[in-house]
Amino acid sequence: MKKHNFSAGPAILPAEVIQEAAQGVLDLNGDGLSILELSHRGKAITAIFDEAEALMRELLSLPADYDIIFCTGGASTQFVLAPMNLLNEDETAAYVNTGTWASKAIEAASMYGNVNVLASSKATNFDHIPDFEVPNDVKYLHLTSNNTIFGTQIHTYPTTNVPIVCDMSSDFLSRPIEVEKFGLIYAGAQKNVGPSGVTVVIVRKDMLGTVRRQLPLMFDYRTFIKEKSMYNTPPVFPVYVMMLTLRWLKKLGGLAAMHQYNLEKAAILYDEMDSNPLFKGTVAEKDRSLMNVCFVMHDASLEPEFMKFAVSQGCVDIKGHRSVGGFRASIYNAMPKESVQFLADLMRQFAVQRG
Ligand code: PMP
Repeated sequence: MKKHNFSAGPAILPAEVIQEAAQGVLDLNGDGLSILELSHRGKAITAIFDEAEALMRELLSLPADYDIIFCTGGASTQFVLAPMNLLNEDETAAYVNTGTWASKAIEAASMYGNVNVLASSKATNFDHIPDFEVPNDVKYLHLTSNNTIFGTQIHTYPTTNVPIVCDMSSDFLSRPIEVEKFGLIYAGAQKNVGPSGVTVVIVRKDMLGTVRRQLPLMFDYRTFIKEKSMYNTPPVFPVYVMMLTLRWLKKLGGLAAMHQYNLEKAAILYDEMDSNPLFKGTVAEKDRSLMNVCFVMHDASLEPEFMKFAVSQGCVDIKGHRSVGGFRASIYNAMPKESVQFLADLMRQFAVQRG
């Protein structure tokens, strides 16, 4: 049976990327050697890193004063490294609490400087992006662009002189961004751009070198920039799969085309839940995520039955996160429109059967 993988991450990858990656595992360049057994210092691998960086720069139209780092540790490590590298103890950073991941980022930053939480939607279980005003005197503003668990997304970034530091883990390269607004962007690859194991950090040069604390080399962004992400052994295979995914994204037409496709996919599910008498969305309409579509049933006692039905038809990982309940369909870049339509059709069928 065909599977429709709605996993929140690690998540669906383009079928052709998985094919190519599998070939690379068997024999990367036709000389009998696997990607898994090659030195990161050798030509084959440095060429892959260079191409991944070049593709990312091209897709984002990244200005020259930004550096790109590929590292390990996930976005969770960046919750710590960003304030460690950017914020002095007597300085203040502004954060907006839009969910579980933002809360963790706030907790981590509090160890390195003052944290001003401008707004929070915690009281309503993070069902919207709260309004906030950015003070002028903060070192940076930290935002979580897409809240994977709660299904909300920032659709317009504030215009401010304060550099934005952004956790883009779950919508990275899913739409065009005004990159100049950002001082630092970080994202684990495992939703939109590759498998787990590589984290991307994009940082504007002037953000670095302003903290007084001593940074261990492994925790200093400048080490990774200077050594082209090869100060220590980097995650070679995840970067390879990411590079293949970036090639795919470019071939598809880049970020504007991807965004259009993502808008169309999300509309299929949101339209269904708005018109279907059994289902309803869980977040404010204006903040609905194009990546993680969260919904529940008016009659929660029917949820196990719909779950069973959807799973029996090939849907994978549509269970909502335990802090929201119900269902979550993650429909990242690589999710085909046909699979999204398939799930919407199941919702309709179920309502007809039950109607
Ligand atoms: N931020 C967001 C928005 C996430 O969705 C996740 C993971 N789901 C994280 C941070 C944590 O990422 P990691 O597990 O790669 O540390």
